[in-house]
Amino acid sequence: MAFPTTRLRRLRRSESLRSLVRETRLTPDALVYPLFVCPGEGVRKEVRSMPGVFNLSVDEAVNEARQTHALGVPAIILFGLPEKKDEVASGAWEEDGIVQQAIRAIKREVPGLVVIGDVCLCEYMSHGHCGVVKARSAPQSLGAAARDALNTASVVSVKNREEKEKAIETLASFAARAAQFDYEIVNDATLDLLARTSVSLAHAGVDIIAPSDMMDGRVAAIRKALDDAAFSNTPILSYAAKFASGFYGPFREAADSAPQFGDRRSYQMDGANLREAMREIELDIEEGADMIMVKPAMPYLDVIAAAHERFDVPLAAYQVSGEYAMIEAAASNNWIDRERVMMESLISIRRAGASIILTYYAREAAKLLT
Ligand SMILES: [Zn+2]
Repeated sequence: MAFPTTRLRRLRRSESLRSLVRETRLTPDALVYPLFVCPGEGVRKEVRSMPGVFNLSVDEAVNEARQTHALGVPAIILFGLPEKKDEVASGAWEEDGIVQQAIRAIKREVPGLVVIGDVCLCEYMSHGHCGVVKARSAPQSLGAAARDALNTASVVSVKNREEKEKAIETLASFAARAAQFDYEIVNDATLDLLARTSVSLAHAGVDIIAPSDMMDGRVAAIRKALDDAAFSNTPILSYAAKFASGFYGPFREAADSAPQFGDRRSYQMDGANLREAMREIELDIEEGADMIMVKPAMPYLDVIAAAHERFDVPLAAYQVSGEYAMIEAAASNNWIDRERVMMESLISIRRAGASIILTYYAREAAKLLT
């Protein structure tokens, strides 16, 4: 039946009519609030690129957890900023690691709140990568680079501008070669550390283990380690399709986890690949993931929709730091209506098919929804 019999605007005439026919609803019980825990006491250090988000000492994290729970948000996810970093990520799996301390304190003070432990090594590794780094070739020493450069430069007699530029280019390429070295993020050696970290978090009382490293086979390794340690009831929420994304920028400041060299493209997914994302998810479910996640959210809504269509496990999506920072930046310039865009961004993720949304807006959205 076409116009004029059909008039879709009939059901948009008032808020009560619109609400009655609304297809997607957002409720606070779908939200997870991320917290960044750091050493010290009474510490609340705002993340420069994420206004309203803080590095919190354990006591402050407990306060924040209590308030979050009171607002009707059922879960938090914890990230840690350790006292010191090293080459084996000790801070991730030590019994008194910063996240382990926070889990114990929060589970004691706010027992009803679900605590999810992010499992990755980048925050605890001196090099900032998510796995164990093995050098394939040593970096060239600066002395050797300078000698090579001088040898090359001495055969170039600089007569005119063109030659001078060419000589500078040659020198620059030597300097660049000295600065970088060939390395590999070793998959299987990393699995042991991830498994050890997961068991340590389970011992501290975490409710859900959420591996975010993107190593192959990590879900199976973690499941086995948890079962062997008598944590067969601890579920795994796998960051199954995590894309190498520019939207993580502000998080790296928040968690102090930027790689010191190279990037994460050899383990995180290529942003162009939807079919591969389905394979990643399928494998993680086979390995024993109880829930899956797509990250980031808004630039990958099609991946969320496809995953929702195809898989019957609970599906989470992470509205990442860059998504948050963009909204905050535009709103602070009065270019957009902050609350409206915040809620619109969350409903879009829900509509795409995510039943769980990890977001820095969890608390504010919960306030507006109740
Ligand atoms: Zn990582």
